[in-house]
Amino acid sequence: MSFAPTPQPAGLPPMRVNLYSDTQTKPSAAMKAAMMEAEVGDEQGGTDPTANELCERMAAFLGKEAAVFMPSGTMCNQVAILTHCRPGDEILAHESAHILTSEGSGAAALAGAQITGLQGPRGQFSLDALREAIRPHTRYAPPQALVEVEQTANSGGGTVWALDTLNAIADFAHSQGLATHMDGARLTNATVAAGIAPSDMVAGFDSVWLDFTKGLGAPLGAVLCGSREFIGQAWRWKQRMGGSMRQGGICAAACIYALDHNVDRLAEDHVNAKALARGLAQIPGITVEHPETNLVFFDTTGTGLDATTLNLRARAHGVGFSVNTKYRGRACTHLDVSPAQIEEALAVIRAVVAAGP
Ligand SMILES: *Cc1c(COP(=O)(O)O)cnc(C)c1O
Repeated sequence: MSFAPTPQPAGLPPMRVNLYSDTQTKPSAAMKAAMMEAEVGDEQGGTDPTANELCERMAAFLGKEAAVFMPSGTMCNQVAILTHCRPGDEILAHESAHILTSEGSGAAALAGAQITGLQGPRGQFSLDALREAIRPHTRYAPPQALVEVEQTANSGGGTVWALDTLNAIADFAHSQGLATHMDGARLTNATVAAGIAPSDMVAGFDSVWLDFTKGLGAPLGAVLCGSREFIGQAWRWKQRMGGSMRQGGICAAACIYALDHNVDRLAEDHVNAKALARGLAQIPGITVEHPETNLVFFDTTGTGLDATTLNLRARAHGVGFSVNTKYRGRACTHLDVSPAQIEEALAVIRAVVAAGP
């Protein structure tokens, strides 16, 4: 059995234009300065002033009672699932959701919960699909505990769930006695794109988190929010899983810096993504999914190259993206990609495709 990290091709030059992921950003000099100056204490003991400030800021930002600082988004999801679910419980989420495809079966391994994948275009399921998935309360049916949505829907193309849909899904889930959880890894991409206040967008969700390493430029950190009661329980799971930190304010300072400086500018990433999509669509053989935020998915079938081959050949010229399925690539814009670099990436991909299979 192999426990390899995400496979990365060896022996290639460094990426000049890194469209692989919005997690690839390096902390800026100003962010590092904020980290160096952070006042710190003991995060586990509740006495780290900077971690406390971040949690207060985030609770207010998302309109929830309380918040807890976590090392990663995956840990936010897993702690939330552990808090909402008992062993044997069922979670309803889109079939392409990160919790189902990309967290090492954590829900099953840690919480003993099973995830049932709902279908729907662009990473989203409808209220009707959710209605149909509700099971009768019988001895033999899995007890259903949680509905999860991903805002933005990553594998769906970075798509933004409409506020009406989110509210209808949350209302219906609650009416059926299910809790609601939002994976907000790229929540601020959605709020900036839609022009909706974060606290309004997540109002129907009992728990929600934001990742500071997805386009917000921080080296690590995510914050999970919910009711005081929920966060109290979540804190115990964080402790059990070894997620408590000591002078965590060093990292919380980066997240506060990101909140202050890197949220509104996500609009620039969305403009860059649209420019990238327009350019890719003009390359013969490439078809592009309309980008709503900073993720640009495209199909390479018509070029005669699969996405891995196209990526490897572009990598030889310093341009890299990620590969989702055999012919589906994903290019991601973020604060370390400029409009000029978008043009550079397009020139490289155009030349690789023109050279033929
Ligand atoms: C990246 C991502 C996560 C996990 O976040 P990490 O901070 O990398 O652990 C969860 N959900 C979605 C939709 C993501 O894109």
